[in-house]
Amino acid sequence: MTAPLFNKVAIVGFGLIGSSIARCVAEYPGLANGVVCVDRSQAVCDRVLELGLAEQAGTDPALVSQCDLVVLATPIGAFADLGAVIGPHLSEGTILTDVGSVKQSVVRDIAPHVPDGVHFIPGHPLAGTEHSGPESGFALLFKGRWCILTPTPGTNQTAVDKLSAFWSGCGSMIEIMEPGHHDRVLAITSHLPHLIAYTIVGTATDLEDHLQSEVIRFSASGFRDFTRIAASDPTMWRDIFLNNREAVLEVIQRFTEDLTALQRAIRWGEGDKLHELFTRTRAVRRSIIDAKQA
Ligand code: NAP
Repeated sequence: MTAPLFNKVAIVGFGLIGSSIARCVAEYPGLANGVVCVDRSQAVCDRVLELGLAEQAGTDPALVSQCDLVVLATPIGAFADLGAVIGPHLSEGTILTDVGSVKQSVVRDIAPHVPDGVHFIPGHPLAGTEHSGPESGFALLFKGRWCILTPTPGTNQTAVDKLSAFWSGCGSMIEIMEPGHHDRVLAITSHLPHLIAYTIVGTATDLEDHLQSEVIRFSASGFRDFTRIAASDPTMWRDIFLNNREAVLEVIQRFTEDLTALQRAIRWGEGDKLHELFTRTRAVRRSIIDAKQA
């Protein structure tokens, strides 16, 4: 039998994504011999041990020193402080990665703390749900989903291949991208849709009381889908918008212009314009289904 890719994987921040990675290690052979949990909350560490998701769990960042793969899986706002406390405990040859939803800020916050001999490869699995915490994870989360890696130039290729093999073993498809490009792509495909959902649900809840109860009672699939997205973790999403500021502001500007054009088409009864757009967008949905990303 061949040896697993890694001996021990440290997961720092053991929520939805961190616990899903741990479940992959437990369920899929060949990824790693074991998992170590580092979380700021002792209650989370106790729960992780109860669930049998890690061999060791604690709040001490020095726990990462025994691990050859370290995955940062906290909200990205914690990364700068985390880099400073974890950096000194990383062992030579270790691969340090993360799962944060923005990549330029992660490079900015983590790279200065990475010691020589440690391979830092930022990553982002494009998979998630609106749930949080160690109970919410599941091993199939990454199956058939993309995982984007954004190594900086000069990163050791063997380390990139090894991390790619780890994510492939979790069921993901791998794409290598430049961090700034990642942030622009995600601004339109993920960040703006979340912002729109937060806005719609916020507007609805700001309506008067009687209308509000009707919004809940008669919520048809459109609004219901938005409420699911708008139930996503507030800390995580606050950090995403603050750390992908430029790219998000750029797509909000484009979106606002397009919305204004639609507003005008409705006002002037330009049905052909509406029909033409809705026909184009329907085709986009079909291509997503064809690409098995629905
Ligand atoms: P989550 O379920 O809320 O879990 C985050 C965990 O990190 C919590 O246990 C939290 O503890 C802990 N934590 C926070 N600050 C910490 C610190 N300084 N040191 C150690 N632990 C700390 O979050 P998640 O949904 O797994 O998201 C984690 C990361 O994955 C984020 O960076 C996010 O951008 C990225 N991501 C998320 C999704 C998604 O859909 N959820 C998808 C792709 C990528 P407390 O409970 O005490 O706060």
